[in-house]
Amino acid sequence: MITGKNYIGNALKGSGSKTFKTFNPQLNKETSWQFIEATEEELKEAVTLAWDAFKEFQKTTGTQKATFLRAIADEIEALDNELIETYCAESGLPEGRAKGERGRTCFQLRMFADLVEDGSWVDASIDIANKDRQPNPKPDLRKMLIPIGPIAVFGASNFPLAYSTAGGDTASALAAGCPVVVKSHPMHAGTGELVASAILKAAKNTKMPNGVFSNLNSSGIEVGKLLVNHPLIKGVGFTGSIGGGRALFNMAAEREEPIPVFAEMGSINPVIVLPKALKQKGKEWAKKYASSITLGTGQFCTNPGLILGIAGEELEDFISTLGEEIEKVEPMCMLNPGILSRYEENKKKMLAENDVSIVTDYSSNVPQNYAKQAVITADGESFLKNPQLHQEVFGPFSLVVKFQNKEQLTEAIANLEGQLTGTFISEDNEVEDYGDVVHALQNRVGRVIFNGVPTGVEVCTAMQHGGPYPASTDSRFGAVGVQGIQRWVRPLSFQDWPNHLLPDALKNDNPLQILRTVNGDKTKDAI
Ligand code: NAP
Repeated sequence: MITGKNYIGNALKGSGSKTFKTFNPQLNKETSWQFIEATEEELKEAVTLAWDAFKEFQKTTGTQKATFLRAIADEIEALDNELIETYCAESGLPEGRAKGERGRTCFQLRMFADLVEDGSWVDASIDIANKDRQPNPKPDLRKMLIPIGPIAVFGASNFPLAYSTAGGDTASALAAGCPVVVKSHPMHAGTGELVASAILKAAKNTKMPNGVFSNLNSSGIEVGKLLVNHPLIKGVGFTGSIGGGRALFNMAAEREEPIPVFAEMGSINPVIVLPKALKQKGKEWAKKYASSITLGTGQFCTNPGLILGIAGEELEDFISTLGEEIEKVEPMCMLNPGILSRYEENKKKMLAENDVSIVTDYSSNVPQNYAKQAVITADGESFLKNPQLHQEVFGPFSLVVKFQNKEQLTEAIANLEGQLTGTFISEDNEVEDYGDVVHALQNRVGRVIFNGVPTGVEVCTAMQHGGPYPASTDSRFGAVGVQGIQRWVRPLSFQDWPNHLLPDALKNDNPLQILRTVNGDKTKDAI
């Protein structure tokens, strides 16, 4: 049941006076629930509880954490239709998407459960002592990863489940042994409260300490600012705009004790379409890209917002088919009137730029809160000169740029801001003639795709979801897949400690049976 209150650990509290409602964009009206923003006292209580819980939670075994994470997934599934209906009401997204995202969320939780149950993720590394070494004896050194402390998680507007309350950031932080305080996204506070209730039910049933999880409501930036500035918060996970992510990053850096902020932000995901590929399968690719640009009303961080090609007949044909195909797509609802108005405003700015031509700007009437898709073109020289053309238009929009030659294309890519993805559309070995372009692209992105679309992010170990700034604040890490756990840990070395006082992961007989690096070799053997 949605109460509109905050979860301060296990307790529901709502002593504040600031309230807000979520919005149903399909019905174009507010939902019935009223949410109470967390007060400063409630926030402080949540963080203090998280800090107290950390002392115990960091000592829970991998098996106990796995049981907790699997119980969260089970409790989310048990919310059944109430969750799906709330998700759809607060986002305007269809039921199929809601169910798919719930599946992904539970999959991620169970994936982290498997990881921590296995235990090898702590990256135990042992260098055995050598008392006889000359001129000085070598000490016994043993290193492993340990959790950093309570984490503040900012949910994403465009993924109410998979990148919000119990999404990838929360799942990875809990798996690492870090308590989590979520700053719920105001656009889907009801979905957030339901998921929070599932997490806390799972926590109680698996005997996790009170404070291991809290959920704070807020509409406006005050709660988020207080959270990031609280001295007992030790890391931040964020998905959203460049402005929001950068503001939190700066705040965290200015604290007396700076803390890491892992923000996943904007990306226009350049796609390079090569001439032979367009000659042979231009129509097919245009169709695929019309779908990819408009998928989820373009509200994906991997949306292909920039298509780059070599000027010529093939590219012209591709552009005109892309225009026709995109015109055929039924417009869809955006998440919220605020996101829609930002889309319309940014699109208008792009359309008004010098030297751009409109291929399609959907002109028929659409229901309230539906977005009208658009594709525009520009030439390579204008693109190189005008940084405004490099900006993200979050929604169903793409810019196609026509370059004179490979050199101009390479220069444009080398000067792009950091991106999550970059894609090549190539026929056979055509890409081999574009070595410099490939090299330039690899330096600007976190994932390079060959003959595909960037939308659709597989959750697996080899996925990289993050890229050079401003795609993310730290391109060495990713927000998708099990390696996301590395954002919430730090290495700790033990020197010359007695075996019985070492953590199990580092003991001689390897009681956890984990894979370790012993004197440089990977092994599960005892010492
Ligand atoms: P957002 O405005 O960045 O907000 C995300 C979260 O961060 C919200 O909970 C927000 O709180 C909080 N926040 C933002 N600025 C803050 C600040 N200065 N201090 C403290 N907290 C702050 O993103 P959004 O609401 O998801 O969507 C807005 C726009 O972001 C979209 O129109 C789109 O352009 C972009 N976006 C991009 C991606 C992407 O993947 N590239 C994904 C989602 C959104 P409040 O809402 O309570 O103020």
